[in-house]
Amino acid sequence: MDDRALRELGLLEISRWYGVESGAALPKGEAEVAQPAKAEIHAAANADWDQLRTLAMGCQACGLCKQRKQAVFGVGAQAGPWMFVGEGPGADEDEQGEPFVGQAGKLLDNMLAAIGCRRGQDSYIANVVKCRPPANRTPTAEEAAACAPFLDRQIELVAPKLIVALGKSAVVRLLGTDASVASLRGKVHRYREIPVVVTYHPAYLLRSLPEKSKAWEDLVFARKVLRAATAGDPL
Ligand code: URA
Repeated sequence: MDDRALRELGLLEISRWYGVESGAALPKGEAEVAQPAKAEIHAAANADWDQLRTLAMGCQACGLCKQRKQAVFGVGAQAGPWMFVGEGPGADEDEQGEPFVGQAGKLLDNMLAAIGCRRGQDSYIANVVKCRPPANRTPTAEEAAACAPFLDRQIELVAPKLIVALGKSAVVRLLGTDASVASLRGKVHRYREIPVVVTYHPAYLLRSLPEKSKAWEDLVFARKVLRAATAGDPL
């Protein structure tokens, strides 16, 4: 991102504050990719929704930017109360620019409907990484870390009453644990004070139909936790 773009976003000052000028001034090679990313990472922490989306769409903080059609930012109610966090865009999402629009997304929408929650109305949906990993592989720890400022800021802006972590990548990113999804289900965890409930990723459920009933249990549990959190009851 060059000075002009940063200035238009009101981010030039902050990028300088953190000691990063702009991509235009950088030497060619790897640092050229890394340095603007550093500016974006710090800028994200202070961005509003429009600024954050613009930063994410132009982000080059990791190698995933090289093969994406577009970054897939997030969708839904910008004030929660539900927030769902998946892993990363697949082919359909890369094409359409919206999270969870493929088969797994249809299942997620059905799961949401079953608990009286609608995409775009009372939930915000985002992913750990905003760009599609090649062949839909699991994002690496470095890729998740490079994208962390975007998800962190999205969560801050939504300020959800409850986060549902969909699968292992979301668990690792939000809870910082390598424990299995199975072992974390049915308990209230925390991401910076916000209650987090863990369930299986919809793509996994498509491959493991018997686990669907467990995901249903998880969502019923999540709804209970959300109600308690909204009422200010102890969790
Ligand atoms: N899987 C995810 O984790 N996110 C998507 O957006 C689509 C599939």
